[in-house]
Amino acid sequence: MALTHNLGFPRIGAKRELKFAQEAYWREEINEAQLRERAKNLRQQNWQAQAQLDFIPLGDFSYYDQVLDMSALLGNLPQRACRSASALDNYFRSARGQSAGDNNKLSCEAGALKKWFDTNYHYIVPEFSQHSEFELHSSELLSQLTEAKSLGQIAKFKPVIIGPLTYLYLGQSSDNSDKLALLERLLPVYQQLLQQLFDAGVQWLQIDEPILCLDLDKRWQQAFEHSYQQLKDSAINILLASYFGELQDNLQLSLDLPVAGLHLDAVRADKELDKVIDCLPAHKVLSLGVIDGRNIWKSDLNKLLDKLEPIALKLKERLWLAPSCSLLHVPVDLNSETNLDAEIKNWLAFAQQKLEELQLLAQALNCGRQSVAEELEQNRLALSQRHNSTRVHNKQVQDRLDALKPSIEARQSVFAERNKIQRQQLNLPPLPTTTIGSFPQTAEIRQKRRAFKAGKLSANDYESWIKKEIAFAIKTQEQLGLDVLVHGEAERNDMVEYFGEQLNGIAFSDYGWVQSYGSRCVKPPIIYGDVSRPQAMTVKWAHYAQSLSCKPVKGMLTGPVTILNWSFVRDDQARASTCKQLALAIRDEVLELEQAGIKIIQVDEAALREGLPLRKSQWQDYLHWAVASFRICANGVKDETQIHTHMCYSNFNDIIQSIAAMDADVITIETSRSKMRLLAAFEDFNYPNEIGPGVYDIHSPNIPTENQIVELINKAASNIDIDRLWVNPDCGLKTRQWPEVLAALSTMVSAAAKLRQQLLPKQQKSSGQETQEKEQALV
Ligand code: GLN
Ligand code: ZN
Repeated sequence: MALTHNLGFPRIGAKRELKFAQEAYWREEINEAQLRERAKNLRQQNWQAQAQLDFIPLGDFSYYDQVLDMSALLGNLPQRACRSASALDNYFRSARGQSAGDNNKLSCEAGALKKWFDTNYHYIVPEFSQHSEFELHSSELLSQLTEAKSLGQIAKFKPVIIGPLTYLYLGQSSDNSDKLALLERLLPVYQQLLQQLFDAGVQWLQIDEPILCLDLDKRWQQAFEHSYQQLKDSAINILLASYFGELQDNLQLSLDLPVAGLHLDAVRADKELDKVIDCLPAHKVLSLGVIDGRNIWKSDLNKLLDKLEPIALKLKERLWLAPSCSLLHVPVDLNSETNLDAEIKNWLAFAQQKLEELQLLAQALNCGRQSVAEELEQNRLALSQRHNSTRVHNKQVQDRLDALKPSIEARQSVFAERNKIQRQQLNLPPLPTTTIGSFPQTAEIRQKRRAFKAGKLSANDYESWIKKEIAFAIKTQEQLGLDVLVHGEAERNDMVEYFGEQLNGIAFSDYGWVQSYGSRCVKPPIIYGDVSRPQAMTVKWAHYAQSLSCKPVKGMLTGPVTILNWSFVRDDQARASTCKQLALAIRDEVLELEQAGIKIIQVDEAALREGLPLRKSQWQDYLHWAVASFRICANGVKDETQIHTHMCYSNFNDIIQSIAAMDADVITIETSRSKMRLLAAFEDFNYPNEIGPGVYDIHSPNIPTENQIVELINKAASNIDIDRLWVNPDCGLKTRQWPEVLAALSTMVSAAAKLRQQLLPKQQKSSGQETQEKEQALV
C-alpha cells in the first residue's frame, strides 16, 4: 500500500482571501479576532481539500511567512519588533517594520527579505548574534492541532517545521558570529517541541531541510549528523524532507540520518532515485515527490506508474507519494479559471489538481491501473494533444532557432569603437542623467488601464490618454533637466506581463496567483508554446515620446531571461531554447525601435541573477545561455545605437564576467544602499563599458540631499573613470509618488551639474594644453 501526503498547501486561498484579510487587518479595518477567524476558515478549507490524503500537512499555513513562523516558534523574533502585548502584532512588525509616522508609533526596521532557494517566494531572514537565545513558543502551532482535532483523527495530521540546520543556514548573524555555534542552544528547543507534539497525539512530523540540496561544506554536513542524533530519542516519527534538487554529496548523509523517513524531490533528483532505493535502510519510509510542485503542467501519470510500480512492489507501505515540494509555489485551483483557453487549460494542473493526480497514482498502485483506467486514458489524451498541438509548435520559430549562428550575438564593432560614434551622435554632457524607466503609477493610471482591459474605455480614448501621460512625463523630465528621457511606462501593469500578453505562445490565467512575500502575490505568465512576436509592442509609444523632444528618449524593453525567470515555463523543451525564442522576439522589437529613430534602447534583466541554479557546478551552463540570449536580443543594432541594461540587485562579484560578456554599452545597477561598495567588483574586474550606479534608493520615501548624491558619485568615481559614469536612481519609480520623484530627481540633476562644474575647468585645461602642444608641433 503506497500512502499519499502533501508537503504544504498554498495558504493564500483560491481568490487571495488571505491577502485581503491581512491587508484589512493592517489598515485596522478588522481586528485580530476577525483575522484569526478568516485564517481558520482558510485552514479548514485547505484541510478539506486534502482530506483524501493519508497525511495532511499542518503548520504550513502562515500569517506571513513560514521562516518567520519558525523564528516566532523558536522565540527568535527581533527584540526591536516585540513591543506590544499582541504576539501577532510583534510578528507582523518583525516582517514589515513600522514607520514613525504611523500614529506616532516608534519606528522599527522591517526584516530583510530574501529569495527562498530558486523560487520567486521571499522569506524573512532570521536574525542572529552570538548572544541569541531560543525559547519555545508553540501555542500557535498547538492551537492549530486543537483545531484539526475537531475535524478528524489527529494522527492523520503531519505538522511541518523547518529543520534546525536550514533555519540557521538561512539566517544572518549581525555580528558575523558563527551561526553553527548556536546549534547547542537551538536543539533543546526542537527536542522540547517534538515532545509537545508527541504528547498532543502527533505521529509523524515533517522536518524540512532543503539545504540538503545545496553545496554544503563538511562542518554543515557534520552538524546534520550531530543534530539528528540529538533528535532521534523522540518518540515521534520524523520525515526529513529535502527538495528543489539532487542530494549529490549529501545523499549518503541523508540516507544515514537517524530518522523514520526521507522525502526526495523525485522530479529534480530523478537521476538519484535508483541509488536512493538501493541504499535505503530497511526500516525507512521513502517519500517520493513525483508530482512537480514548481510547475503547472499535468503529470504523465502512465509514465510515472511505469517507474513506480516496481518501487511499490519493493517498498510496499514504506513508499509514500507526494508533490516534489510544498505546493506553495503553484496557484490553488484550475477550476477558478473560466477564461483560459479550453485546450490549454486541459494541459494544466494547479495545486488542487496535483493532489488529484497523486490520488490517482496511489489508487493505480494499490488497486491496479484498471481501477482508474478511464482517468489514465484522459491523462494520456491530454498529454498527447499538448504534444501534437499546433498551438505549441511553430515551425518558423523553430527553424529560426535552429539556424542561429554565433554571429547573431555580436555587435558590429567592439565597445571602444562604437562608443566613439555614440558619443558623437548623442552629444551628452559628462555624467549624463537619466532614470530607469517607470514613473509613478497613480491610481488614475491603474484605473484607466483596468477600464480599457474591461472594454469600458475605447482603444482610441485609451491611446490618447496614454499619450497624454507620455507628454506629461517628457515635459516633466525636460523641466527637470534630465539628459536621457524615458516615456514613463504608463501603459504597463507589470514589466513581464506587458510583453507576455503581446507575444504568441504565452497564456495568462485570471486567478493563477502565487505568493511572493507577505500579502504580495504574482501571477506568472504561462509559456506554453513557441514564442513569437506578431507585431510591435512598444514602438508606437517610444516613437511618440521621441517626437516630443530633441533629447534622446530610451526605448524600454524587458529582457528574455527576466521574462523566462518570472514565468511558468514549458517542460517539453530546454529552458535555454525557450529563452532564445524570447530573445529573438525581443530582438525584432529592438530593431524596429531602432528603425523608428530610437537611439538608446534599454533591455532590463532584473531577474538574470536570480535564475542562477542552486548548485555552483551548474552556474556556467546557465550563465552561458542567459548571456547568449541577452546578446541575441540586444546586439543586432548599428554601432550608433546605444544599448543599456538594468539590473536591480547588489551582488555582482561572482557573475561580473558574465555581466561584462553581455556587452551592453551602459549598465545601470542598484548600489545606493550598499553605499557604492559593490562597485569594487566592477573595478577589480576592470569592467570595460559605461555604468550608472544608482545614486539614491527608490525603495525609501526619503528624499536624498544634494550632498549625499555628490558624495556617492564621488565615491563611484574613485572606482570607475568619471567619463564612463552615468547618474540615475537605482530602479524604476513606479511605486513612488510624484512629489517625491520631482524632489529627488531635481536634487539628482543639480548634484550632477555641480560635479560637472568641478570637472569642467580640468577639461578645458586639458583641451587648452592640447592646442598648445599641437601649435608647438606645427612650429
Ligand atoms: N524599466 C523598469 C522600471 O523602471 C525596470 C524595473 C525593474 O528593474 N524591476 O520600472
Ligand atoms: Zn530595478
